[in-house]
Amino acid sequence: MVIIVGAGPIGLATAIELKRRDISAKIIERGCLVNSIYNYPKDMTFFSTSERLEIGGVPFISHNPKPTRREALEYYRRAAESYDLDIHLYEEVKAVDGEDQEFIVQTDQGEYDASKVVVATGFYDIAKMMNIPGEELDKVKHYYDEAHAYAWQDVLVIGAGNSAVDVALETYRANANVTLAVRDSQIKETVKYWVKPDIENRLKNNEITGYFNTEVKEIRPKEIVLETPEGTKTISNDFVLAMTGYQPNFEMMKTFGIELTNNEKRMPVYNEQTLETNRKGIYVAGVVCGGMDTSSLFIENTRVHAEHIAGDIEDKTSG
Ligand SMILES: Cc1cc2nc3c(=O)[nH]c(=O)nc-3n(C[C@H](O)[C@H](O)[C@H](O)COP(=O)(O)OP(=O)(O)OC[C@H]3O[C@@H](n4cnc5c(N)ncnc54)[C@H](O)[C@@H]3O)c2cc1C
Repeated sequence: MVIIVGAGPIGLATAIELKRRDISAKIIERGCLVNSIYNYPKDMTFFSTSERLEIGGVPFISHNPKPTRREALEYYRRAAESYDLDIHLYEEVKAVDGEDQEFIVQTDQGEYDASKVVVATGFYDIAKMMNIPGEELDKVKHYYDEAHAYAWQDVLVIGAGNSAVDVALETYRANANVTLAVRDSQIKETVKYWVKPDIENRLKNNEITGYFNTEVKEIRPKEIVLETPEGTKTISNDFVLAMTGYQPNFEMMKTFGIELTNNEKRMPVYNEQTLETNRKGIYVAGVVCGGMDTSSLFIENTRVHAEHIAGDIEDKTSG
């Protein structure tokens, strides 16, 4: 039995590839199916076209040029169902004891024997903190849901990537008074090409107030303090939407005995062909492989991990 930690798209894809090779697998997921996607902004649209999000050859038909979160939730439910995958939801993996072929996977509800373990835990569970005074206030959100709650409020959006830009535009269109604080001198080049002109024009027209080369210094109950190139500015504020990114659970990987690279990326150490980590019999799959570099790996370019891992496990099992 192979235990897969995480029922994101890549955990599901790996279970499907194992099933196709008649290798039994169980997925253990701490939240709901595709929990990260479930927690994305409600009205979010993927930047990928639907066929690039497909797994296991199950067709993903979207009614839009780019699929929505709601369509993706339905699609991954159907994909899991059509392969009749064995999935335990709302169960968290805490530790992996033993060794290759004889692992014992500990969860918050019990333990399982496993011949191999695949860690497909993504990066969306842990928000990158700014570590500034006031970040702990309830009005500061690292996860954005939908715009309605921010109507007629003074909203600070922090960041310059796709999430920050989407949130700034959505809340602006829901009548929020939006300020965008960006550390760098411009909006990121990686912002969706069909969205970038929209934010740039809103900034140019002062419909959204932009502060570039700016650090957020402090968050107070009704104000924020910004360090701008023109000096310190204190502005009125009701909500802070900190779209500053997310990071993999490094502590969990270390608990599993997976080494991390000794540089700012902190990537798990693994074989690029097989995805097997330094700990024999434990594999990594999906966006967790990128470490802190969370913008270079997606569903699109990590789906292939499933075949590599399943192929390697098949070779080792039959050999
Ligand atoms: C806003 C946004 C938009 C995106 N748009 C696109 C796009 O258009 N195209 C694209 O290709 N990619 C996109 N991505 C990236 C991609 O969607 C995600 O990174 C994708 O979900 C990665 O899949 P995954 O299976 O590797 O990890 P995840 O989907 O993050 O799945 C990991 C799972 O592991 C579970 N888990 C974690 N720890 C444990 C534990 N200890 N025990 C049990 N379960 C655990 C989590 O609950 C989660 O369900 C986007 C990301 C974001 C944030």
